[in-house]
Amino acid sequence: MKVVLKELTKIFPGRTKKAPEVVAVNKFDFEIPDGKLVGLLGPSGCGKSTTLYMICGLQKPSSGKIFFGDDDVTELSPENRGVGLVFQNYALYPHMTVKQNILFPLQNFKGADRLSKSEMLERAYNVAKLVQIDDLMDRKPSELSGGQQQRVAIARALVKMPRVLLLDEPLSNLDARLRLQTREEIKRIQRETGITTVFVTHDQEEAMSISDIIVVMKLGVVQQIDKPQTVYEDPVNLFVAKFLGTPPINVFEGYVSGGKLFIGEDRVLDVDGVEDQDVFVGIRPEGFIYDEKGPFHCALRNVEVMGRDVSIVSTNGASLNPIIRSIVDADNKIDVSAEKVSFTLKPHKVFIFNKETEERIRFGKSEQNSQTSSKED
Ligand code: ATP
Repeated sequence: MKVVLKELTKIFPGRTKKAPEVVAVNKFDFEIPDGKLVGLLGPSGCGKSTTLYMICGLQKPSSGKIFFGDDDVTELSPENRGVGLVFQNYALYPHMTVKQNILFPLQNFKGADRLSKSEMLERAYNVAKLVQIDDLMDRKPSELSGGQQQRVAIARALVKMPRVLLLDEPLSNLDARLRLQTREEIKRIQRETGITTVFVTHDQEEAMSISDIIVVMKLGVVQQIDKPQTVYEDPVNLFVAKFLGTPPINVFEGYVSGGKLFIGEDRVLDVDGVEDQDVFVGIRPEGFIYDEKGPFHCALRNVEVMGRDVSIVSTNGASLNPIIRSIVDADNKIDVSAEKVSFTLKPHKVFIFNKETEERIRFGKSEQNSQTSSKED
């Protein structure tokens, strides 16, 4: 089932007459393809949950429309939309067993949708098997681990055979190991059921690993929608470039003069065709090549060996981050006693941004890519 958001907007009034209204979601336009898992990603307060609640029907949009397939569901109540919703805090009924929790939504089916007892049980056991909790059906939620409780919550959402599955930070209450495991599980369950799914998270690594498509939001406004790898490799602005990637992108103040990019005194790269101007320069940690004769010089702090790779930690007066992290191959013989370290930069791992708007300025191959993709559009 494709989900279409048309100029979806939510404005909350200010708490007092003088307080300004909050535009939580601003003209969100997007067609979620059938059967895909979409990650809504952004910092706290960017409008992710409000978007999810509007798709679900718990929040009424101020303007705009929502379609499931060709059905306009904008005015429908949550019960009539055919959505399954999973919250961060599981929200299971504590006095009921796992089986009773899963059966609960089916008992509310009315009229032609009503199921017989044996049909309900069959459905409950089928979803319990899918999320691998079928051996825990007689336990109470308090007798389960956090990960198991979250699986029950997912089973309870799936048992209704929803048209769309909505997950609101479903992994936040789990410890690191369970988070990893449960996110793999969610991906598997989503693939097996083929249900169009929207997943809200503020954790970029989680969104990158689980989503077919990522939507990056800031202050209610969509910044970029694309495959996770594309958003990482081809960010549209400084905010997106900074939000994705661990270790984070290294950001410097720089300038372009005569088609050359400068960071401080160092002429680090050719950027033919870019007008002279002050810029922000973003360099991914893997964008540095350790090179004694390289044009970019930094003060060496230390070197951390991480198996296959080496992380060189350095500083530079033009850096906006307190330290610069560059990841290079462990085969490099790095003089750890040296005071300076020099690099050559990989052009496709270097992004430059307008200093005022923070929008990406394309050069060389990235400019050709954007022209080809805009033609394809
Ligand atoms: P978080 O990750 O912290 O949950 P979020 O990205 O999901 O954040 P939302 O909860 O969608 O963000 O909130 C978006 C904006 O709308 C925020 O500025 C928030 O303060 C505001 N907001 C949300 N709900 C209400 C409400 N009921 N009344 C007034 N303002 C609200």
